[in-house]
Amino acid sequence: MKINLSQLAPRWRKIVRDIGQEADRQGVFAYLVGGIVRDLLLKRKDLDLDIVLETDAIEFARKFVQGRDIRLIPYSEFRTVSLEYPGGIRVDLVTARKEVYPRSGALPVVSPGTLQEDLFRRDFTINAMAIAINGDRLGELIDPYGGHRDLKGKRIRVLHDQSFVDDATRILRAIRFEQRFGFRIDSHTLKLLREAIVKNVVDNIKPARYFEEFSKILSKEPSPVKALTRLSQLGAMQFLGSKKRPDFRLLQKIEKGLPRLIKNKICQWQDRDLIFLMGLFAGLDSAGVERVTSRFQLSRRYRENLILGLQKRKIAGELNSSRLRRSQIYEVLKSLDIPSLVFIRLTVVPRIGKRIDQFLLHGRYVKLKIDGKDLQRLGVAPGKRLGEIQNLLLQRKIDQGWSTRAEEIRQARQLIGQE
Ligand code: ATP
Repeated sequence: MKINLSQLAPRWRKIVRDIGQEADRQGVFAYLVGGIVRDLLLKRKDLDLDIVLETDAIEFARKFVQGRDIRLIPYSEFRTVSLEYPGGIRVDLVTARKEVYPRSGALPVVSPGTLQEDLFRRDFTINAMAIAINGDRLGELIDPYGGHRDLKGKRIRVLHDQSFVDDATRILRAIRFEQRFGFRIDSHTLKLLREAIVKNVVDNIKPARYFEEFSKILSKEPSPVKALTRLSQLGAMQFLGSKKRPDFRLLQKIEKGLPRLIKNKICQWQDRDLIFLMGLFAGLDSAGVERVTSRFQLSRRYRENLILGLQKRKIAGELNSSRLRRSQIYEVLKSLDIPSLVFIRLTVVPRIGKRIDQFLLHGRYVKLKIDGKDLQRLGVAPGKRLGEIQNLLLQRKIDQGWSTRAEEIRQARQLIGQE
């Protein structure tokens, strides 16, 4: 079967054509592989361009980049190389390889192999197809394990029975793809997956590595909640270290409310996984947060936000009283990071949520136009009092809404005069 590569975006088409021509020049074969092939067949957009070569990819790339404006980042252990094009496009070139897992969860022992062997090391049949990009096979679909049939039948199927034992991250990947595409894990594969969960093969893998794959559910998938629900049904959430079922109502609120906040640029798409994690870990105490932070090697920013998230109840209490000035709301919220604010915003009752919105949309941007030097010129000595005056001015500005510098100076004079 021939695949029409003109479906690729023009920029990518050119890259693929250039690499194909270089493969012709070097007398080797090159193939698109993995997610891009799957997504071409599904007529979906993919963001990764992976190319397998039946030759050493690093050597190939060194010759290819000569005279071109491309940065080359080699990974000699796996003989792969990333090409970084101007404008940030990244293409991965892989030396076709076979992999043997010495034991469950260990890193595989790799050696050069054929395309067929390279496809066999992959997770599911739908990700184990290739398209030739040069020679007289240009455009040909190479599908030794029935990936296209499974794609049409909407099935997630492993290539062999040891797959989940070799690499437990495939449990997460199976569920991620199943839920993303609305497919079904095929019945034999599901049996193997359940057995792997019962055998705790996850424990054979470094927690940080497993967690990295897990966080793709939170950062990449259109509906993390669907995948988390399925994981939970299958008893595959234990690795998070809690016996309690996650609070799905809370997670649902996050999933429902977050797109609007991202669209309005209140928070960024990149914060999505952190905000969902705050929902997942909402039942922990601070010792629990420290435990997961160190177990999964989470960054300081994640740790800090997870801890801030624990203050949700206290903050909701402080924002609950019926008469609050805007500056009082500002005082409660000003020290929180955006992901924490968004998490709290999305999971409190609407009345308090509106107050947080006010802060997110307006309050946090209010700044004084005059600075310490201006206040010194008005006669305030440097020191604690100066900071207090700045704070009082800011509170007034938030509550009264004035905007000119002249008004700030007038108000400052008034405050100083009251001393
Ligand atoms: P996505 O659309 O989420 O990026 P993808 O299929 O491109 O999906 P990647 O994680 O970028 O996923 O992996 C690229 C390819 O590498 C996959 O299509 C698959 O063939 C292979 N792969 C990735 N992870 C594994 C794994 N744990 N075991 C086997 N093969 C894997």
